Amino acid sequence: MENLSNISTIREIMDRFGFQFSKSLGQNFLINPGICPKIAEMGGAAADTGVLEIGTGFGVLTHELAKRAKRVVAVELDSRLLPVLEYTLSEHKNVKIINQDILKVDLKKLIETEFTGMDVYVCANLPYYITSPVIMALLEKRLSIKAVTVMVQKEAATRLCAKLPSRDCGAVTVAVRYYSEPKLLFSVSRGSFMPAPNVDSAVIRLDIKKDKPLSGEAEQRLFTVVKGAFSQRRKTLCNTISSSLNLSKEQVARALKDVNLKETARAEELSLDDFIRFSARLYQTTEEGI
Ligand code: SAM
Repeated sequence: MENLSNISTIREIMDRFGFQFSKSLGQNFLINPGICPKIAEMGGAAADTGVLEIGTGFGVLTHELAKRAKRVVAVELDSRLLPVLEYTLSEHKNVKIINQDILKVDLKKLIETEFTGMDVYVCANLPYYITSPVIMALLEKRLSIKAVTVMVQKEAATRLCAKLPSRDCGAVTVAVRYYSEPKLLFSVSRGSFMPAPNVDSAVIRLDIKKDKPLSGEAEQRLFTVVKGAFSQRRKTLCNTISSSLNLSKEQVARALKDVNLKETARAEELSLDDFIRFSARLYQTTEEGI
C-alpha cells in the first residue's frame, strides 16, 4: 500500500483497526515521505538482497524495502499490528512478519534459514528504548550481515558514530568501531514522526567488518577494559581500571607506559588500537604477576 506516510491514511488505518499508539513500545511512525525510500536505498535493499527489518509499525518502511529487495523478514513485537500489516502489505509476496521481541530472536538461525544465499542487510526505524541492546546484539553475535542502517535518536547517533579518540565517544563507540565502519547518513527532524517525539533523530549505517581485530578471550578482555575505562570517564585509567579490574595503580601505570600511553590518560584519549594494545599488555602484566 502506498501513502503509508500520509497522516490521513494513518488515521484511517487507526480507525479501521481501532489502533492506538503505544508509548512504551516506542511507536513513533514516519510521516515524512522522503525518509523510507532513502533508508531502503542507502541501506542496501536491492533485487538480490535480503533485508531484516526491526519494528514495522504500519509497514511504511517494510513497503519500500519489499519494493526493492528479494526478501524482507520483519520482526514486530506488537501483535495488534498483525492484521494491519496483512492489509497494508497484501501486495508483497516477499515479506514475512515474525511476531516476536527482537531481543529474544535467535538471529543467527533466522538469517541462516530465511536468507539462504543472499547478502543480508538490516534496516530499521528502531524503537528508541532498545537502541543499544539491539545494535550490540547485531554486532556481537557475528552475524552474517553486510550492514546495519538504522534510525536512532540524534544523541545516540553522535555517540555511535563518534571518532576515536574524541570527547563524544563512549564504550559503545569502541564496540561500534571494533565491529564496523560507522557513518552518519542524515538527520531527521522530530516533526517527521507521528506522534512527534521530544528529540530529533538521525540515520546511521554501520558497515560490518569482515575481519575483527581479535577473537575469543582477547576480545572479552578488551571489552572488560573498555567498560571499566568508561565507567567514570572523567577519571584517569589508573583510577578506573585499578578499581574495576582489582589491580594496583602501579600495575595499570606500568601497562600504560609499556604501550606508550601517558600515566594520566583518560578513556576518551585512546584510539581503538590503543585500547587493544593496552588491554593485551594489562592482562600480560597481571598474569606475569608484575
Ligand atoms: N517502521 C515503522 C516506522 O518507521 O514508522 C515503525 C517504527 S517505530 C519507531 C518502532 C516499532 O518497533 C514499533 O512498531 C514497535 O511496535 C516495534 N517494537 C518495539 N519494541 C520491539 C521489540 N522489542 N521487538 C520488535 N519490535 C519492537
